[in-house]
Amino acid sequence: MKAELSSGLEAVIEALRIAGCRITPQRRAVLAELVEQRGHINPAELSEQVAEKLPGMNAATVYRTLWLLDELGILTHTHLEDGVMYHQSERADHVHLSCSRCGSSEVLEAKDLTPLARLMQQRHGFAPDFTHFAIGGVCARCRAAPEKMR
Ligand SMILES: [Zn+2]
Ligand SMILES: [Zn+2]
Ligand SMILES: [Zn+2]
Repeated sequence: MKAELSSGLEAVIEALRIAGCRITPQRRAVLAELVEQRGHINPAELSEQVAEKLPGMNAATVYRTLWLLDELGILTHTHLEDGVMYHQSERADHVHLSCSRCGSSEVLEAKDLTPLARLMQQRHGFAPDFTHFAIGGVCARCRAAPEKMR
């Protein structure tokens, strides 16, 4: 059975062990913080949260652990205008609309893009993955802002 973050800390640690990863106290602290996360996982914010509990924590350990979990299929990542964001794999069925002006991000259900996916498949034989990259653009708030505010 594939481990998920929601399977809990010990299940995730077991999945990493099976994959041959060493579980250091630092890595355990990162994993403990991660299994508490329900929504989007911002690597910089996660680093700060872990560092609060484990002062002197190396941010590289956080980034490396996220990368490993991505390799194992427990997490997936999305590229936004302002960097990479992680999701639990079972919660990654949406597309981000990422504002190039203010960096805000809204979410669109992947199924709303089914007509576009079908068109790509028919015309190009291409099976798109809309969840890997955000769709860049300008959000409603920024579009409504007066010119001088931009
Ligand atoms: Zn998301
Ligand atoms: Zn905006
Ligand atoms: Zn990528």
